[in-house]
Amino acid sequence: MTRDILSMTYDELSQAFSAEGIQGFRSKQVYEWLHRHLVLSYDEMTNLPKQLRETLKEKFPIITCSVVRKQVSKADGTVKLLFEMQDGDYVESVVMKYKYGYTICVSSQIGCKMGCAFCASTLGGFKRGLTAGEILSQVYVAQKEIGERISHIVLMGMGEPLDNYDNVMRFISLVTDEKGINLSMRNISLSTCGIVPKIYDLLDKKLQLTLSISLHAPTNELRDKIMPVNHKYKVEELLAACRKYAGETSRRISFEYAMLSGINDSDECAQTLASKLKGMLCHVNLIPVNEVKESPFKPSTPERVERFVSILSKNGINATVRRKLGSDIDASCGQLRRKEKENKSEKEGDK
Ligand code: SAH
Repeated sequence: MTRDILSMTYDELSQAFSAEGIQGFRSKQVYEWLHRHLVLSYDEMTNLPKQLRETLKEKFPIITCSVVRKQVSKADGTVKLLFEMQDGDYVESVVMKYKYGYTICVSSQIGCKMGCAFCASTLGGFKRGLTAGEILSQVYVAQKEIGERISHIVLMGMGEPLDNYDNVMRFISLVTDEKGINLSMRNISLSTCGIVPKIYDLLDKKLQLTLSISLHAPTNELRDKIMPVNHKYKVEELLAACRKYAGETSRRISFEYAMLSGINDSDECAQTLASKLKGMLCHVNLIPVNEVKESPFKPSTPERVERFVSILSKNGINATVRRKLGSDIDASCGQLRRKEKENKSEKEGDK
C-alpha cells in the first residue's frame, strides 16, 4: 500500500514507519525535511541512506505540485502562481505582500460546485477536492519560489473549503504544527459561501482562525439569485451561526461583499445589511467585483462604494474597501486556471 506522506500527521507517519520496520528516528528526520525545510524530494534528504530513500519513494510518495506559470504584478508585486497537480489539472495561488508579511491565498478544490454567479471558479466545473498535502504543497512550493517566508494564509482561492472539510482541517493542523512550518492559527482565514452545518462543526473545534463569510447580499431574495447555496441555507440561518461563532470564539467575523453595480449596492441594501449585522463582532470587506468575461456583472462606481461604506459606518458597522491587488494579472479566483485550460484546448485544437 502506498501512502501520501505529505498529508500525514507526525503521529501517523511515525506509526506507518514503524509498521514498515523503519527506525523511529527516521520519522523525525523525514517529517522535518518535509515540513520544516520544505524539501519535497527524497533525493534531497541527504542524511537518509540511499536504500531507505528508494523504499520511501515506493511506499510513501510525496504528492506535490509544480509551478507551470508565474505572473508578477508590475503594480504591486503580487505573484500569481499556476500549479499543476500530479493528475495534470491546475490550481492557482496568489501571494500578496502586506506590511505585516507575505500572505498566500490557496485553493482547496479543483473547480467548485457552489455556482456563485459572479465567480470564475465555478465556470470550469468541479473536479475534486484537494488532499491536505496538495493544499500544503501550494504553501511550501510558493515559499520556495518567492524566497520569502509566508506568514499568513487565506483559504480564498478556488473551491469551497467547507465542502472539503476533513482535508482542509487536516491541512490546518499540519500547517500550524510546531514540529513543522508552525504558522499561527491567528494568521489563517477560512472563507466560506455559507455551509451552515459545517460552520457549527468548525465552531466546536474552537480554533483561533478568522472566519470569512462570502455574504454578498443582505436578503434571501437577492442572495438566492446570485448564490445557489442560499437555497439551502438562508441568510437568517447563516447569520445566526455567525453570531454564535463570534460570540463563542471572540473572533471577529469578516463578511465579504462583492459590489455588483445596480444589483446589491443600493442605499437600501446597505441599510438592510447594517440592521442584520447589528451588535455582531464583525467587519465588512467591500470588494468592487472583478469582471469575469462570461458574467454580466460590473463593479460599482467608487462613489457608490463610498456611499455604501458611509451608510454602514453611520449604523455602527465597521467596513473597508478591499485594496485591489494584482488586477493586471487576473489575480481573482479561477481566472488563471481558465486561461490555461483555454490555451491548452486551443493548442490541442491546432493539432
Ligand atoms: N468558496 C469560498 C472561498 C473562495 S472565493 C467562498 O465562497 O468564500 C473567495 C472570495 O472571492 C469569495 O468571497 C468570493 O465570493 C469572491 N469572489 C469570487 N468571484 C469574485 C469576483 N469576480 N469578484 C470579486 N470577488 C469574487
